[in-house]
Amino acid sequence: HTRYWRDWSSDVCSSDLSLAFLFTAMGYALSSQTKPNIILFLVDDMGWQDCSVPFWDRPTKNNTIYETPHLETLAANGIKFTNAYAHPVCTPTRISIMTGMNVARHGVTNWTNVHKDTPTDHPDELLSPAKWNYNGWSNDPTIPYSITATPLPLVLKNAGYYTIHCGKAHFAPYGVGGSDPTHLGFDVNIAGSAAGNPGSFLAEDAYGGLKGDTLWAIKGLTEHINKREFLTDALTAEAIHSMDVAKEKGKPFFLYMAHYAVHLPFSKDTRFYQKYIDKGLTETEAKYAALIEGMDKSLGELLDHLKKIGAEQNTYIIFMSDNGGLSLAPPRSGGMHTQNLPLKKGKGSLYEGGIRIPFILAGPGINKGDVSQQYIIAEDLFPTVLGWAGIKHPKLIQKVDGKNISAFVQNPKKIDQKKILLWHYPNNWTNINEHGISWSSAIRQGKWKMIYFHKDQKLELYNITDDIQEEKDLSEQEPQQLKKMASFMTKELKKKNTQLPSYKNNSLPIAWPNELKKYFKNNQ
Ligand code: CA
Repeated sequence: HTRYWRDWSSDVCSSDLSLAFLFTAMGYALSSQTKPNIILFLVDDMGWQDCSVPFWDRPTKNNTIYETPHLETLAANGIKFTNAYAHPVCTPTRISIMTGMNVARHGVTNWTNVHKDTPTDHPDELLSPAKWNYNGWSNDPTIPYSITATPLPLVLKNAGYYTIHCGKAHFAPYGVGGSDPTHLGFDVNIAGSAAGNPGSFLAEDAYGGLKGDTLWAIKGLTEHINKREFLTDALTAEAIHSMDVAKEKGKPFFLYMAHYAVHLPFSKDTRFYQKYIDKGLTETEAKYAALIEGMDKSLGELLDHLKKIGAEQNTYIIFMSDNGGLSLAPPRSGGMHTQNLPLKKGKGSLYEGGIRIPFILAGPGINKGDVSQQYIIAEDLFPTVLGWAGIKHPKLIQKVDGKNISAFVQNPKKIDQKKILLWHYPNNWTNINEHGISWSSAIRQGKWKMIYFHKDQKLELYNITDDIQEEKDLSEQEPQQLKKMASFMTKELKKKNTQLPSYKNNSLPIAWPNELKKYFKNNQ
């Protein structure tokens, strides 16, 4: 598969490479003692509170519903980040993790289709989406509307890692390199494709393969279909097998354990379902809760296997979700946007419900039971992971926006109030046409968060530390702060060559936030 790579892929990390070459030439594999293993355990569409580990300063209702004992163990053995963020939908977060770039820079601002050259935006009467990279990540820069950047697994592979992709990829449509994770430098691809969800989690449905439409069928897991395993378990078994392969090869491993759970479809996992019915949940919500507990069981099995192979002291584990919890009802049950309360809205929104995620790190040198309130974002993982792997000067074709968070891990009391987080979603996720969903940009610095709503040209300002519910819009009371944040946002977006949505009637882009006349009369 490496033949698809152009020249620049082979000279990433030249110093590490030459060392690797020297060792292999001498007949040795790189010693696994020198570099730690890394597991990135990424859950799909899991809300901030959808587990029994509280990520707020107090447990919430959701924390009392869902049962995730293995996540509790991980939190007790590592550091919990209570202000961790992702982007509001799947693909943008995943490309940020793989490239270290902010969404406004990589331009894959919305989820990618299974079909090439086909944006996923719903039509809107007022706006057209920005010209975004709807062909996702590509190893061929001539593909229009795609982003080519040096991916994290490739850098790790070239530094001696055995790189394992297990689960959901969703980096690009079929027909673009990113639909096959081996093009990103993964040695093995288990179950990853252009699809953002499985046809089914059930072996009885052949994980979607029985429905005739093969685009969403999970491939390569026949053995597990025959054993009648739930998809989450099948992926876990395959991941464990690949960890053993890495050990046999004498290489450290990077395991990207990207579960399809807990995304739709909510297939019924009968091992956990009845417990949640007995707790009073609806059938839909009991299925969702069972998906969560099945995911937690997977985490437990990976942790157990690390012990079994004697790798628990030398393995970093990252636990996170790729966006906020789904709050559209239906397909969830209950009222619209009630599922993430006290957070506002859910997936597809730049309110906290759409972007705030559970996030835990554990591994060598990380103290047990620490908590950090530092706000961090998905792209920070790229330099952090390279730091753990001891890769100091990787040769990358992209500019990395993420920042290494190790200093906050080493000193949980340290808070950088100047750090800036940026979100950009110039797209239309669904057909519901609702304030707070789609069409927005947001920025956070310190306690302040400002959201720019593209359709109604409205700015909202929140003190997110005191008002996590985003109930008190301070844009009128704090005009100076609003001006400062609008100016920051404009600067950050422009620095990244960001595209804005445009008006349908005249094709002109919407105003930059600092140009909004109703807020800033004497703007510069
Ligand atoms: Ca997702």
